[in-house]
Amino acid sequence: MPSCTGCNATYQVGALFCQKCGARTEAPKPISYRSSVILGIVLFLLILFWQIAYVPTPVSTAESVSKPAPDEAAMLISKCGEPDLDHSAEKDKPTPNPNRRWLIYRKARVKAVFIRPSATEPWKSEALLDTKTQKPLAPEFLARRLPCANSGTR
Ligand SMILES: [Zn+2]
Repeated sequence: MPSCTGCNATYQVGALFCQKCGARTEAPKPISYRSSVILGIVLFLLILFWQIAYVPTPVSTAESVSKPAPDEAAMLISKCGEPDLDHSAEKDKPTPNPNRRWLIYRKARVKAVFIRPSATEPWKSEALLDTKTQKPLAPEFLARRLPCANSGTR
């Protein structure tokens, strides 16, 4: 704590006058304190305005319009070739809902199951099964048996 030059009594930092003898202290002038606060506020506002001014222009909404989902069954065929068996339940009477489609690659022993809620929608991959066990194939087995399925962008 600073002390008074007149009576040597200590006074609070920022006090204008000594509480004991009333002498003027050597405390920093409050005006300088206040002006530094004002300067800080001005700087803050400047940064704020600068940030508002540099807000990126909104991206064109045309890009965010969702494209139709890719037909995953067609994608698999384009990557791995025609399957040994391509069967869908869509011609069954009554037509099941949702519809399923099976693509069987005998050599790879992979049965790819696709599903779609209606004939107007693209096939979505539901499961990749072992043709024998009808159980889902672990990715490492699938990668070994049907490496073409994982090639290209997904
Ligand atoms: Zn004093």
